[in-house]
Amino acid sequence: MKKKLLIILLLIISFQGLTQRFQKINKLESLLNSETDLKKLVSGFYELSILYESSNPEKAMENALRSLAISKGLQDNVGIVSAYNQIGLLELDFAHYQAALDAHYNALKNNEQTKDLKGISLSNLFIGQVYQEKGGFELAEDFYLASLEIAKEINCSLCLSKGNSRLGSLSHVQGKDNLSLQYYLIALEAVSLTNNIEELAEVNRSIGFLYKNAKRNGLALEHYLKSLEGFERVNNKEKQSILCFEIGSIYQVENELDLALLYMKTSLGLAEKTGLKAYIKKGYENLANVYEKNENHKLAYEYLKYYLAIKDTREISELEAQLDIENKNQEIQLLNKEKQYKAQELKNKTFVTNIILLVCFVVIILALFLFFALRQKNKINLQLQLANEDATRSRTDKEEFFAYTSHEIRTPLNAVVGMSRLLGETDLNPGQQKYLKTINSSAQNILFLVNDVLDLSKIESGTIELENVDFSIQEIVSDLINSLDFKLREKNVSLISRLDGSIPSVLVGDPHRINQIILNLVDNAIKFTEDGEVRITINVTHETEKSISILFEISDTGIGIRRSRVDTVFDSFKQETAHTTRQYGGTGLGLAITKNLIQIMGSRIHLKSTYGEGSKFSFELELKKSKNKTLSDGALNSGASPLRDIKVLVVDDNTLNQEIFFDLINNYKNNVDVDVASDGKMALLKVKQSNYDIILMDLQMPIMDGYEATRQIRKLKSGKASTPIIAMTAHVLDGVAEKCGQAGMDDYLSKPINLALLNQIIIKHIKKRQVSDSSDLEDQAKEDIIFDTTHVHLDKLLQIVNNDYSKLEKYIAIFFNNLPSDLESLKEAANSQKWEELGKIAHKIKGSVGYMGISSIKKELQILEKVNKDVGDLEEIADIVNRVEIGLELAIKELQKIKSELKEKA
Ligand code: ADP
Repeated sequence: MKKKLLIILLLIISFQGLTQRFQKINKLESLLNSETDLKKLVSGFYELSILYESSNPEKAMENALRSLAISKGLQDNVGIVSAYNQIGLLELDFAHYQAALDAHYNALKNNEQTKDLKGISLSNLFIGQVYQEKGGFELAEDFYLASLEIAKEINCSLCLSKGNSRLGSLSHVQGKDNLSLQYYLIALEAVSLTNNIEELAEVNRSIGFLYKNAKRNGLALEHYLKSLEGFERVNNKEKQSILCFEIGSIYQVENELDLALLYMKTSLGLAEKTGLKAYIKKGYENLANVYEKNENHKLAYEYLKYYLAIKDTREISELEAQLDIENKNQEIQLLNKEKQYKAQELKNKTFVTNIILLVCFVVIILALFLFFALRQKNKINLQLQLANEDATRSRTDKEEFFAYTSHEIRTPLNAVVGMSRLLGETDLNPGQQKYLKTINSSAQNILFLVNDVLDLSKIESGTIELENVDFSIQEIVSDLINSLDFKLREKNVSLISRLDGSIPSVLVGDPHRINQIILNLVDNAIKFTEDGEVRITINVTHETEKSISILFEISDTGIGIRRSRVDTVFDSFKQETAHTTRQYGGTGLGLAITKNLIQIMGSRIHLKSTYGEGSKFSFELELKKSKNKTLSDGALNSGASPLRDIKVLVVDDNTLNQEIFFDLINNYKNNVDVDVASDGKMALLKVKQSNYDIILMDLQMPIMDGYEATRQIRKLKSGKASTPIIAMTAHVLDGVAEKCGQAGMDDYLSKPINLALLNQIIIKHIKKRQVSDSSDLEDQAKEDIIFDTTHVHLDKLLQIVNNDYSKLEKYIAIFFNNLPSDLESLKEAANSQKWEELGKIAHKIKGSVGYMGISSIKKELQILEKVNKDVGDLEEIADIVNRVEIGLELAIKELQKIKSELKEKA
């Protein structure tokens, strides 16, 4: 807003000069309107044309033409020539060169007609000027020179001056400033002779300009000042303004800043008065510069503002146009940009769509990949699961296989060995004795092989677990010597043992395995020695507070081993020579087992042997010391064995095993009562009938195996349910111990039985029981009832119900309730020969009858239980069923009696 006001103000100032001129024009026009004198009109219109010249060239032309027209009418040659000259100048301004020339030629023609030489001279100058402007410099020069010729002729100083000035101007335009100066100086000389102040001033101005260009500021100033003076005298303010500006700028260059300011300001003032816009602008610009130089920043700033305002007004339309163009350009640019943006957007959209499609594609691929990977994984998992199941199954199968095969092989083999021994005691001729001996030794060999294979498979599968129990090396050695005594008697070999006195009598370790190692080595030593001695040497090599290292050496004076065979004898199934089996028997597994066992115990076996002289096997074991000074706190040696007055039940289907155990325990401590059962069922019965302190239970048995028997015993409602049960197994394979535990067994022992270990286990479990039983006894304070019966024995049931009459009565009632229908079913099954059904019912009745202690029909029911298709004798079955019915009738009678007795008691 401020800026706009400033512009308006400046415009007002700049048009002040114009206003003065317009006033003059208006005045003249109004005068001419009322003028009737044509001559005055000619000069009036001419004057008006000159006045309009700078502001309105069209009007100027109009008035010039009017003046010409009137002049022509009046045949006023001066008027005609003046009008033509004016028209020529105006046409030149319009750059209408031909028109200008036409006008000037007409003037020339008129002058020639009037023989006005001065006029001719001037017309030549005007024509020359048109050519100069047109660029026809040679023609221009020709006309100028022609003009000068005439001027000289008529001795017209003014014409001379004008002619030289034109030549000076032409030379300047042609870049010949020196020549130009010379022409102007001639012109100056000529004009000085006249009174034409304006022309003089004009020439001085041109000279000053040339000096200024030549940087001869002193001379320039001199001529400019003269020129200024001249124009002042003729009151030509526009020229004054221009000159003041030129002078000011020279002073500015000369650093005469005060003078520069003075002339600049004067120039500006005059320019403002005359409306010389160019000089107003120039004035402001220069003043700003001068003040700037003068370090008057405030004023410099003011003038700069004016200058910029003028500049703006002058250039406003241009700027607007430019702005318009710029706006349009900008618009186009914007449109282009928009186009580009849209294209980019489209590109982006396409890109995004592509990316989305790509992502979708990748996701689909991934999903498919995952799907297939998962399917594959599930497939693999399933395969793994199946493989795992297979592995587990095969493990179980292996376990079962080893257990069953070993059992199946060993049972008949044991029988063969046992029977052949018994047969050996009968009268046989020497040949038969020999055959028998072969049978016996072969059977023994197979038995050993089975045991060894089982052992080795356990060791190699890594399922073997070493025990950590108290044991005595001394006892192991003495037992071992005792057990091998009979072998020695057949040979001329003595078995000597040397045990270090500092070996503690109780150590912690696996006695069975240590025994197995020593036995293997000593057994071999005896086997491979025909004459001489076998020596067991056991020495302490190192001792700490908690452990002791013991070196075991087993040496013999036997056949020895070839050096080449020393390493291979420890391999499975490797014997020294192919004849060894034939000559000495054996499986070739003993040393492999021995070596592996020693390795498991963290040591190594060493062998030194001289072929034909003997061998020495040695190994060192680090064993933990026990807190106990003697085995089981010395109970074994004190004679006050807890095995005294105990009753043991040995359950084994193998008669020989039964015998062995019987002898083993009986022989070991004679004060032990041993009972034997051949299967689980019989064991259960025996447990029900008698009281045992401990049960040694075989696992694989017909009718009822050891696991089931244990489960049944544990289900008993009397205190017998807690009788300690020790599993005896020849195949402590993986999982067997666990299975024993699950069935309710308290412990297990591996066959062949280590006596010391057996003793330990028996003592351990009996002691435990004694502690718990003492509390049980307190509960059994109830009065015992004695019934006078023959067919029924209720003592067991009473034990189960703990002498509770009401419970007893209840059970008898249940028995009465079920019996009639069961008996009916039994008879019907027998009649219709449904043996399976018959067996089941017999089994059911047997159970109930058992509780009631009706033992008279027990055998009959057992037979009926086992009846099958092949039985054949139907009459006998009918007879048995009949006997069962009679037995039951008798029992029922007694039970009814008991029932009424119980009621009375209640
Ligand atoms: P075997 O059942 O044959 O005794 P072992 O693995 O115990 O199997 O022994 C392998 C072989 O090492 C024997 O067959 C025998 O040739 C040799 N051997 C073992 N101990 C002795 C020994 N004390 N003296 C001589 N040779 C022996």
